[in-house]
Amino acid sequence: MGASNGTAATVQQKFALSVDVEDYFQVWAFSDVIARSAWDGFPLRVGASTRRCLDLFDAHQAKATFFTLGWVAERDPGLVREIVARGHELASHGYDHTKVNQQSRAAFREDAGKTKQLLEDISGVAVIGYRAAGFSIDRSTPWAYEVLAEIGHRYSSSSHPIAHDHYGDPAARRICYRPIDGAGFVEAPVATVDMFGKRISCAGGGRFRASPLALSKALMKRAAASLEGPAIFYFHPWEVDPDQPRIRRASLKSKLRHYLNLRAMPRKLAGMLSAFHWGRIDDALDLRTPI
Ligand SMILES: [Zn+2]
Repeated sequence: MGASNGTAATVQQKFALSVDVEDYFQVWAFSDVIARSAWDGFPLRVGASTRRCLDLFDAHQAKATFFTLGWVAERDPGLVREIVARGHELASHGYDHTKVNQQSRAAFREDAGKTKQLLEDISGVAVIGYRAAGFSIDRSTPWAYEVLAEIGHRYSSSSHPIAHDHYGDPAARRICYRPIDGAGFVEAPVATVDMFGKRISCAGGGRFRASPLALSKALMKRAAASLEGPAIFYFHPWEVDPDQPRIRRASLKSKLRHYLNLRAMPRKLAGMLSAFHWGRIDDALDLRTPI
């Protein structure tokens, strides 16, 4: 990359957009009331809601990385192909949203390997990125990055270095790093800022839906200025699906978190998309595989 064609030198892409492609009934917050074996009983909405994201990205000239569940890819292979055809990066979110820190090394290798193969067979492109369900690569899974590198992934975006009741490790690094000595494999944590002696997430999720848009934009700008790699934002297709069926059996806390401000999400998302120039994670890390 550079100025060889007479145009200005490429500016390092500072904002990377990501979507975790899973349906409303597959989220971790509902996993205590919805067994995986029951998933096939729910009507799939992820195809329609992901296509809504694709249209929104087109309207803002944004490109993104789609971390996709193998379970979803099997049931909607056309969606996988459409993500690629519309210029986005296809990446892996594991097969069925089992957290990495709830698997053995061997089970994780099987799960991640199967999902990578499935996504590549459907799409015909190499899949180099991985995001763990619930940001669940942590100190209890020291083998996880080695496994990902062994099966051919080149980066992970599985770290959310904050204190949170469901995920995160406030002691984890907030800047992109190479977790395996002597290897090029990269961990690219989602965006955070250090302010007033505290680590604050500005990466997305329920916190984004709860916060004023102006604050989210200010924090994202600050994150990009303070991180050496890209500031990575994430959300889920079900967050732009306000009419999704309600899961009545879930706990009040889970329901408050899941359904919070869903109606406002498309407007807030559009605000974020127009505020910054968003791209794919593989491009931001300069890892795009030549075709
Ligand atoms: Zn997920």
